[in-house]
Amino acid sequence: MRFADITGNENVVKALVGMADSGHVPHAIMMYENDGGGALPIALAFISYLNCRERHDGDSCGQCAHCNQNSKLIFPDVRFTFPITSGSKVSGEVKNLTCDDYAPYWKELVLANPYFLESELSSALGIEKKSGVIAVAEGKAIMQKLSLSSVTDGYRCIVIWLPEKMNQQTANMLLKSIEEPAGKTVFILITHQPEAVLQTISSRCLPIRIIPVERERAESESVAEMQGLVEDLFENMISRDYLGTLEVGEALAAMESREKQKAFCTFVGDSLRKIFMIQQGMDEIAGIPPASEAFYRNAAGRCSKTFCRRAIEMINRTSLLLERNVAQKILFCNLVSRMYKCIV
Ligand SMILES: [Zn+2]
Repeated sequence: MRFADITGNENVVKALVGMADSGHVPHAIMMYENDGGGALPIALAFISYLNCRERHDGDSCGQCAHCNQNSKLIFPDVRFTFPITSGSKVSGEVKNLTCDDYAPYWKELVLANPYFLESELSSALGIEKKSGVIAVAEGKAIMQKLSLSSVTDGYRCIVIWLPEKMNQQTANMLLKSIEEPAGKTVFILITHQPEAVLQTISSRCLPIRIIPVERERAESESVAEMQGLVEDLFENMISRDYLGTLEVGEALAAMESREKQKAFCTFVGDSLRKIFMIQQGMDEIAGIPPASEAFYRNAAGRCSKTFCRRAIEMINRTSLLLERNVAQKILFCNLVSRMYKCIV
């Protein structure tokens, strides 16, 4: 993967190239994307660039020995960590499993489509019905990798896909290394739920927002409509207008299709993440559209600090229940009343 293969996110690419060229590569980067949003291809292009022997014009050469290994995901100084558990393809006790056990399936999927979704990874790994974790055995494998000197003279890269699935014990194990890794080592974390990443980890990373390419292009009517509904909902909740809040719930229940309601859930989840990131002081990467900046800043100042995390859980649950034919009016009115109760 080269930067030339990446569409969009020019500013991110420019920043990464600048870091590599100047030699000021951060110890740890946390990329925040929506599921399938293209952070992994950017991370792969960055790793190739860091380790290419013939960089030119702000990109890797794609031909040297290192580029060749990176393109096949066999560069010896890169480790890929992702959530796992035992499943139909790899059995055994969960506490003994590491991503090495799953490496062939990961490689096959990434090489076929680096823009894969979380659900696609689960099925590629044969753990569809289960919830994967990044547990202690994997943490130990990372520490072991860091304890050995690098095989090449390039950068050692630890890619952690979905750090929100890391348990506390593993996080504690990795903290020091993420804060002060040995020379020429970089951690690249890719998250879909920045609010769920342990704060001890996320606070040590340089945050980078990856904007989905379709979103960059489309300031479509549908986005404007969703934004309008979100603003209406928040305005009613924050000004403590319960009836107004319920009216928005009814409008959501009356949307013409379940697909549209699901799209709204995704949209409001994304809005909550923006608010959360402003509250965490990560404004510059929250991906706030300039036209809605005043709204998001106001909301961030007025929502309680625990609201976004709780509301995202409520939204996820609503999204799930939508698939089960639950009466929509009850579903959405219940959602907005519960949000109303805990927003301030
Ligand atoms: Zn090269």
